[in-house]
Amino acid sequence: MPFSTNSSTEYCMYLRKSRKDMEMEAQGSGDTLKRHRETLLSLAAKMQINVTYIYEEGVMSGDTIAERPQMQKLLDAVEQGAWKGVLVMEIPRLARGDTIDQGVVAQAFRYSGTLIVTPEKTYRPDDEYDEEYMEFGLFMSRREYKAINRRIQRGRLFSVQEGKWIANKAPYGWRRVKLEHEKGYTLEPDDTGASEVLQLMYYWASHPQPMPDGTTRRMGSAAITTKLNEMSIPSPSGKKWTAAVVREILINPVNAGWVRHNYRPAKKSVVDGEVRVSRPRSSQEDVSLYPGRHRGQISQEVFDDVKKFLLDNPSRPGPKQVAMKNPLSGLVICGSCGHAMVRRPYQNGRQETLLCPHTYCPTVASNLVVVEQGVLQAMREWLENFDLEYQSTKSDPAQGDSSGALRAALSALQKEHDQLAAQEARAYELVEQGIYSTEIFLQRSRAISERQKENQTQLEQISIELQHMEHQEKARAAISPMIRTVLASYPLAQSPKEKNDLLKRVLQKVEYTKTNRNRRSGGGDMNIRIYPKLPY
Ligand SMILES: [Zn+2]
Repeated sequence: MPFSTNSSTEYCMYLRKSRKDMEMEAQGSGDTLKRHRETLLSLAAKMQINVTYIYEEGVMSGDTIAERPQMQKLLDAVEQGAWKGVLVMEIPRLARGDTIDQGVVAQAFRYSGTLIVTPEKTYRPDDEYDEEYMEFGLFMSRREYKAINRRIQRGRLFSVQEGKWIANKAPYGWRRVKLEHEKGYTLEPDDTGASEVLQLMYYWASHPQPMPDGTTRRMGSAAITTKLNEMSIPSPSGKKWTAAVVREILINPVNAGWVRHNYRPAKKSVVDGEVRVSRPRSSQEDVSLYPGRHRGQISQEVFDDVKKFLLDNPSRPGPKQVAMKNPLSGLVICGSCGHAMVRRPYQNGRQETLLCPHTYCPTVASNLVVVEQGVLQAMREWLENFDLEYQSTKSDPAQGDSSGALRAALSALQKEHDQLAAQEARAYELVEQGIYSTEIFLQRSRAISERQKENQTQLEQISIELQHMEHQEKARAAISPMIRTVLASYPLAQSPKEKNDLLKRVLQKVEYTKTNRNRRSGGGDMNIRIYPKLPY
């Protein structure tokens, strides 16, 4: 069970004498708090945690929180998530007797995800399976709980009104940062890439994007969901993106610099004897917005525009739900601008084409069937070339092919390496025999060492290149039977989707170039280059 909601790494200690301790001290048992402090410090050392502050209650403190000034300070800090955990001798030292106090303490720790560390056990307040911890808060009656909750909610409202971020978790694309010189948190753009994804999502929803059917349009939450999943971008939960999650992110005003209060407050209910918490969406009226302490990542204009667009277009089906009509879907890129080429259907019976959707691109479209045939032809040629090369390298490794040239260079460098080592030895001999002065020896030796360094770098580079090339040769040898299989099964494929799956098994991408507009010249200057998927 994760308890990562609290981002602090520091621990504090809370010390308080019980009535019993005082009685024992009166009978000469020694300083209780000193003993407790030593016990907890050695516990901290054993657990390798950092204790940076000690709250120590004075002698006059009472049982209730109201009578314990240090406890009040501690609770404030805990509610703000200032501590990763609190070291205490045993739980009743935090709260005893009075049930409301117990509830207040339990809520503060649970709410902020703060650990309670005792010599007996570490309690994880946000772990609902930590039964012992649950026992700690069990005495709370429903009415008391409501009173505590109101107190907490009031505190939350104040913080939101001040523009602070009060949730433990930052929203997608953001990270939570501690405010300087005051209590509470605010937000900063996340620096692990999620912030870029967030901006991309708004871009897709606000600027018309080329679609697989050849049209361009703004992407709704469903289309964005499909795209994010296709790009294997991790979602906030780590599972697949869903349209609901994408929509929720896009309509969150936090992205334009706001904080909101009362959005989806938790509703508790008892189901089959268990307490369930749900967060139903609140109606717009219950939600209040306040200017956040953070700067929006999205301008107000773009935010409002996207929100309106999503409300006007509840859910558009993503391109994946439409039956695939293009066997080359997702494979062909434009040779002059690098955009993915898309299929364009026509109403008037004209054959569908494959075109580059980029407005000012000089690339000329071709009939889809022509490109498809071109791809198959390129695959056949690739196989023929591969067979030819393979035969020639087998018969004469040094003949023509580049790996032979590299091997020759490598052996020349090795020879130079040996010569330099010999020269170095010779220089030592000459200085020993007094033929070289120390000065000349040093000069000589520096020159040799320079050349050795150079030789070493070249040796390493060429070995890496050679290794890579041999790897590639092996990879090509591995992929060629697969290409043969795909070519053989292609005519048997029943649908564009099946054809597409076959091609994608062996092709990484296809590059298409054609700049000559003359349609009568058949394929004209159409050029198709395939990039087989090489297993590395
Ligand atoms: Zn293009």
